[in-house]
Amino acid sequence: MNPASRLSRSIPVLLSLIAGSLLITFVMADNMSSSESTDVSISECASACGLPSHVDLSGDRFPVVRTDAEWQARLTDIQYEVARKQGTERPFENPYNDNKKTGLYRCVGCDTPLFSSTTKFDSGTGWPSFSMPIDKRTLGETRDVSYGMTRVEVHCAVCGSHQGHVFPDGPEPTGLRYCINSASLSFEEAESAEAIKVLVEKWYDGAE
Ligand SMILES: [Zn+2]
Repeated sequence: MNPASRLSRSIPVLLSLIAGSLLITFVMADNMSSSESTDVSISECASACGLPSHVDLSGDRFPVVRTDAEWQARLTDIQYEVARKQGTERPFENPYNDNKKTGLYRCVGCDTPLFSSTTKFDSGTGWPSFSMPIDKRTLGETRDVSYGMTRVEVHCAVCGSHQGHVFPDGPEPTGLRYCINSASLSFEEAESAEAIKVLVEKWYDGAE
């Protein structure tokens, strides 16, 4: 075979290779533009940040401590019952179960950013559900054996306020379902995922 005919034979192969890699690039770009990349970047940026100066998680007590009277003054009855007394609010009849707005969910007890709307999904359980916390350092876990079940309880690692439970039946990419009480959260609306990231970074900078 002369070189010219070898070249003409390989052109279709080359073209299909180029087309294939273009297709892969488009598919990847499409995936990257979904909210998943934003979830990860909010979480990654938080995890890479140093904690604010008032948040020292190395000790055996929570960095934010309040008296019972202070908790009662800060929280409504249902917030106090759930966040401070390990209660559970009623499913569906709570403010954030149906909340589809973009924004940041903070701990009701100390304003630590705990969850982003970009990881919220409809679990059908009647409680706000998230596939990941913003920063695993600020969401503590405890084995909970109440009600004859073994579950993993989650709480704010900064002030100890009870948040809910985490279950291993959530959506990808984590496979986790953080089932959280609205009463343990305060919601701050934001214009976009980027704006949520700015709010999160502000907290890590100690500006709030
Ligand atoms: Zn807290």
